[in-house]
Amino acid sequence: MFELGDWQQRAAQQTFIDQALIGGQRMAAQSGATFDAVNPATLGVLARVSACGAADVDLAVAAARRAFDQGPWARMAPLERKKVLLRLAELMLAHREELALLDSLNMGKPVMDAWNIDVPGAAHVFAWYAESVDKLYDQLAPGGHNSHASIRREALGVIGAVVPWNFPLDMAAWKLAPALAVGNSVVLKPAEQSPFSALRLAELALEAGVPEGVFNVVPGLGSDAGRALGLHPDVDCLVFTGSTEVGKCFMQYSAQSNLKQVWLECGGKSPNLVFADCQDLELAAEKSAFGIFFNQGEVCSANSRLLVQRSIHDEFVERLKAKAREQGAQLACGGRQLHIDGSDNYIEPTLLTGVKPQMSIAREEVFGPVLAVIPFDDEEQAIALANDSVYGLAASLWTDDLNRAHRVARQLRAGTVSVNTVDALDVTVPFGGGRQSGFGRDLSLHAFDKYSQLKTTWFQLR
Ligand code: NAP
Ligand code: MG
Repeated sequence: MFELGDWQQRAAQQTFIDQALIGGQRMAAQSGATFDAVNPATLGVLARVSACGAADVDLAVAAARRAFDQGPWARMAPLERKKVLLRLAELMLAHREELALLDSLNMGKPVMDAWNIDVPGAAHVFAWYAESVDKLYDQLAPGGHNSHASIRREALGVIGAVVPWNFPLDMAAWKLAPALAVGNSVVLKPAEQSPFSALRLAELALEAGVPEGVFNVVPGLGSDAGRALGLHPDVDCLVFTGSTEVGKCFMQYSAQSNLKQVWLECGGKSPNLVFADCQDLELAAEKSAFGIFFNQGEVCSANSRLLVQRSIHDEFVERLKAKAREQGAQLACGGRQLHIDGSDNYIEPTLLTGVKPQMSIAREEVFGPVLAVIPFDDEEQAIALANDSVYGLAASLWTDDLNRAHRVARQLRAGTVSVNTVDALDVTVPFGGGRQSGFGRDLSLHAFDKYSQLKTTWFQLR
């Protein structure tokens, strides 16, 4: 089933949705404009996709608003929305090969990664939120005999979601699943590099029974469709995953328009601290390599800064080189651009040692398979180096000293600290960061905070 030839045959037959999905209908952009969706592995054009602009965003937001104000979705019992979203999760698994192929062809990740990780992961997120939403209870305030005050969570209305290209289906699912579960309507703008899985997902949602207008997709450029969504006066909340630079734009769009809520999940330069008292350096090396080279390093929480205690530094770098080679590198130190299948979009896994904390490679996000190795002498210095960043998304640390593990974990400025592993991630725990990594939290029940607001209703009794 999963021979390379099978995938190549499937790829040759794969079709691509090349128009927006608004109010349940496929639509070309009002302007007629298109952009080329390219396969980065070959530079071949897969399709010319509608390039939505402000006029299309207006239509999509109007459809979402109508669906929210007049349609059945927001009024359904949570149990009913749950059934629909569970059906969607099943449909995603039924179309696992197709969805995996769409993301692989469109943004260049290995198709088996998409098949093994992205697609089942996204389906699980839909199922998890579907299963959660009919178990949430509201609250009654502790009032006196003559009053009765309820505190309810209400859906916000129209959610704008703007997402990146590194995990196209997963990033969309992380936003959509909790947003839809509580009854909102959504207008999603996928990255221009990766619109296809989102467009297909929206059609599967219709098939599952999500009413027309509840889930709209406007493919297009960030500077047009993304900006229009950020500035739209009838979008209640804008959720964003992407770079810090663009995240800052959305704060400005909100301030310039209707003060919509904005939740940002931005970039990172996550540190991975290896202490000499870590017993299993082989595992630490293996995971450290995974932490930076998985998904080609195109992971916001990639462990791109490796801080190694000086006494084990050279030994650890040797182990790491071996792992990097196992993962396909010709040269462990890497650094070369490769030309394959007519495309220059390849770079070797790259290990840079002797990095000084003030160098740009230790400070700026590369968003690729490039690891900066920095030695440290003691715990205090390790923490200071780790926290010396504008970002605060994730951190990892390796030690067999329980006290040190707790001490250091508390002091690291990061949304997630992984101890004796890297990049711990699960739908049951919140994901997001601080400082210029943003402030939103995806996943877990806490994500519902972004997609609902508290309503107090006070009954004065006679
Ligand atoms: P990006 O360039 O910031 O783009 C993200 C989204 O914003 C895309 O849909 C993009 O559209 C849109 N956009 C771009 N310019 C815009 C503008 N001026 N106004 C409105 N929207 C605009 O990020 P990317 O290159 O796709 O993804 C990589 C970044 O995402 C990295 O920094 C990574 O760390 C971050 N990331 C963070 C997380 C997290 O959870 N914290 C997860 C994954 C990725 P176009 O595609 O048309 O430019
Ligand atoms: Mg971009």
